[in-house]
Amino acid sequence: MFSHRSLPQCTALRRLPVPETLLRTAAAGEPPEDPVWFANGYAACELAEGHDGDHADHLWDVEGPDAAMWLRWHDDGGGGHRFATLAWCTTAHPGGDPCELYAGHPPGHSWAVADPTHEALTADMAAHPEHWGLPPHQPG
Ligand SMILES: [Zn+2]
Ligand SMILES: [Zn+2]
Repeated sequence: MFSHRSLPQCTALRRLPVPETLLRTAAAGEPPEDPVWFANGYAACELAEGHDGDHADHLWDVEGPDAAMWLRWHDDGGGGHRFATLAWCTTAHPGGDPCELYAGHPPGHSWAVADPTHEALTADMAAHPEHWGLPPHQPG
């Protein structure tokens, strides 16, 4: 029904490095609302499954319209990570949605990557709008 998204999302998860994340949020222009809760969470790769190179998760937007803070990490040898300020991908879907990944990401713009959580929530909202405080379906 909503599915023009065709690529499965990468399933890589990584616990955020708590002290470093807290340090970074303290210096962030637009930090998460609850940095402690945030820093104790997970990064989930937003790229399409099977991508080359590092995994990547958007953490928060940085000041200025054109960039955001990302966590990049890889699974091999020690599994190192780094925080990176990256410019946004400038490709827009023909329908108008901007890509929500960084410039130069591996193939698969964000609108083509299926986010299972998002899709499940969207489907549930459509099926049970009253659970979400939305107006119920009108017959017809
Ligand atoms: Zn990944
Ligand atoms: Zn893109």
